Amino acid sequence: METAGGKETVTVLRRLITYAEKVFHLSRVLASLGDKRLQPRIPTVAVVKSGLVLFWTRRPSLKALSLLPGARFWQNWLPEPLASADTRGRVHAGLQADQLRQAIQQVYQHLKRNKALPDVQGGGVAVVDGHESHASYLRHGFGCLQRTLHSDSGDRIQYYHRQVTLMLLPGTRPARPPVRLLLDHEPQRPGEDEVETALRLLARVLVRFPRAFDLLLADALYAPAPFFNFLLAHRKHALVVLKDERRDLYQDAAGLFDQLAPQPGGYRGRQCRWWDFPDLRSWPQVHGSVRVIRSLETYGVRRQADHREHPQTRDWIWVTTLPPKQVSTQRVVGFGHQRWDIENYGFNELANQWHSDHVFKHDPIAIECFLLVAFLAYNLFHAFFALNLKPALRQGKTQAFWARLMAAELHQKVAPHSLSP
Ligand SMILES: [Zn+2]
Repeated sequence: METAGGKETVTVLRRLITYAEKVFHLSRVLASLGDKRLQPRIPTVAVVKSGLVLFWTRRPSLKALSLLPGARFWQNWLPEPLASADTRGRVHAGLQADQLRQAIQQVYQHLKRNKALPDVQGGGVAVVDGHESHASYLRHGFGCLQRTLHSDSGDRIQYYHRQVTLMLLPGTRPARPPVRLLLDHEPQRPGEDEVETALRLLARVLVRFPRAFDLLLADALYAPAPFFNFLLAHRKHALVVLKDERRDLYQDAAGLFDQLAPQPGGYRGRQCRWWDFPDLRSWPQVHGSVRVIRSLETYGVRRQADHREHPQTRDWIWVTTLPPKQVSTQRVVGFGHQRWDIENYGFNELANQWHSDHVFKHDPIAIECFLLVAFLAYNLFHAFFALNLKPALRQGKTQAFWARLMAAELHQKVAPHSLSP
């Protein structure tokens, strides 16, 4: 951290913004944004920038964001006065989601050009999954999904919002954490299932990011044939959890598991038994053969009660189009487990730390756009964190630590001479 006049001052947020301006030309990228207001008093770019600061400092509501008046850095970067919470909500409801998606695309392109998103074993990997951002019995409006919940005291209608998100899972560079990127999301519409939403998302993503990934990971919900066929038609590979015991493919594979001896393997210290069956044609709806892999994993869990190791087993079955000659069983097992990255590093982090599930304004466009601004903030922060912060600074500090520092920075009293960016 910077020392000014003998006093230690916190400058992480300003360093993040300076980095985003230098590497991604953030202000220029955002300058083209517009919204529906006819005579905007406060430019759109200023409102979106304040949205980025809202997420970077992990504020739980629009009202919770306030800036230190008079700080020169903020005057330069974020023209004051900060729009009211009400205006910021309204502007987000009038944003064009596609322009925000373009900003995310530009950040991706810079990182790709700077070789910050290396392939994994010669290819790009991404994961797709749905997430319910909030549910309520009371608040609802246009664009809400709804379901009826049955209980002893009668039926109740619950309103909720869901999106399908695509996260890129690049490889790592020496001594750097991977720069996982949230590339896009698509709101689920009333009456459609998650795979339909995902296919609409993918159709757009493949135009914007045609070469970002070669392999797409997904959970068991995505085992339906249309998902596989869509990816095959676009020359992408799929790797999906296989769970449905009623499925012919599952039954055929289960019969093979009994007949053939597994090969020994290992995954992160777990002892595994692996079965690998390429070229299965027991899924006629899919335009091509598939490969089924099973990993039976044993590991010990030390319980607090008796401090002894208790053996645990996990049984995973995946179906994939990855060719065995190019991608070993071990790699497929690794990819299979990577499907959790979107939960651990995406949804959980976004919801618990970034407050991205908060309904900042109950309007379908506002919900869509706030989430895209959260994605942009997340991507810029993680690029800064992995590529710009020195490893020694990064070490041993949690995400929450950096968030607290950035929040503190907004309210910090600092000598004017130390404020130059
Ligand atoms: Zn709603």
